[in-house]
Amino acid sequence: MSNVANEPIPKRARGAFVKKGTGNVKIEEYDVVQPKDLKPGEALVKVLYSGVCHTDLHAAKGDWPLESKDNLCGGHEGAGIVVAIAEHSNTDLKIGDNVGIKWLADACMHCEFCRQGLESLCPESKLSGFTVDGSFQQYAVSYVNHLSRIPDGMRLDDAAPVLCAGVTVYKALKQSNTRAGQWVCVPGAGGGLGHLCVQYANLMGLRVIAVDTGDAKKQLCKDLGAEVWIDFKEEKDIVSAIKNATGDGFGPHASIVTSASPSGYEQALDYIRPGGTVVAVGLPAGAFVKSEVFFHVLKERKLVGSYVGNRQDAHEALELANLKTGKVKCHYVTKPLDDLPSIYEDMAAGRMAGRTVLKLF
Ligand code: NAD
Ligand code: ZN
Ligand code: ZN
Repeated sequence: MSNVANEPIPKRARGAFVKKGTGNVKIEEYDVVQPKDLKPGEALVKVLYSGVCHTDLHAAKGDWPLESKDNLCGGHEGAGIVVAIAEHSNTDLKIGDNVGIKWLADACMHCEFCRQGLESLCPESKLSGFTVDGSFQQYAVSYVNHLSRIPDGMRLDDAAPVLCAGVTVYKALKQSNTRAGQWVCVPGAGGGLGHLCVQYANLMGLRVIAVDTGDAKKQLCKDLGAEVWIDFKEEKDIVSAIKNATGDGFGPHASIVTSASPSGYEQALDYIRPGGTVVAVGLPAGAFVKSEVFFHVLKERKLVGSYVGNRQDAHEALELANLKTGKVKCHYVTKPLDDLPSIYEDMAAGRMAGRTVLKLF
């Protein structure tokens, strides 16, 4: 618990906003929603840190065939403190609790999908930093149903990237039909999602083939326990290199594709082991995955889409990344909110190994 309960809530604060589809981020002041104006189910969170996900860049550029809010405040890896909760909200959260804002901001909690814990498929879901303002602001309205409790003793900056990147790859690995001792390939392994995927995969007993480019990402992947490194820009025959990496020439049992560009997908179904699973996670604009039906059938290949995670996935992913257990650690650099435009430039150019975390105060 912090002493935040005694702090006044300001009328104005700073955030990063984008006019629809322009890609131009402006750091501006905005009116902070005051506690009396919160609707049941809403909470006000003082955001101390927010990770920057490639999804935020896709949203800013208007990459996807999905309607977003105009004058959008992005961000969905927000870690902060509850400073107000609307009256008549059904929650055990209290003012002063450390919480995380995730991509899935809210869901109806009563449709077939929500009933089964598949809240990401809820037709009434709200998305932080896409259909509602997200965590690139100092005070964010969020929703008690989906705020994640950050484990006691966990640093908020360490927690931030777990709230999307960590949860997403942790759930994707669960969808990969693998078990300890098997091989998983991670295209995009040096990026925000990928470098956490390498670690969660190791934790699950999987052997990792990391695919990405450049010395910094190579070093990071090796340090994090990837057994094999393949540079997609240097390797001429990616399919053979990945298949041979497993020693028997059959290729990995699964591939978790976290690349934000279409090229990461192109050959995934060609190098996957017979009976293996390609888990599509990265969301490049206008990309398609192709598979020749004949071999898709004869080799019993599986292609699975995996979209963030549910509340329990978030809980587990955070617990495993809590430094008290020390199993997974995000590699990040911390930058001020004003640096967001240059962070997007670095991200688009593939210059970032691991994550960048914004410090909002
Ligand atoms: P990032 O930019 O940090 O990492 C992407 C990495 O992919 C980079 O290191 C880049 O060098 C690498 N890459 C590019 N082309 C490649 C190729 N041909 N082979 C191998 N690696 C390649 O991005 P991020 O924040 O990790 O996000 C990755 C993608 O995942 C984005 O498209 C994002 O929108 C998506 N995403 C999906 C979900 C989901 O729920 N499915 C959740 C979060 C993010
Ligand atoms: Zn629902
Ligand atoms: Zn994300």
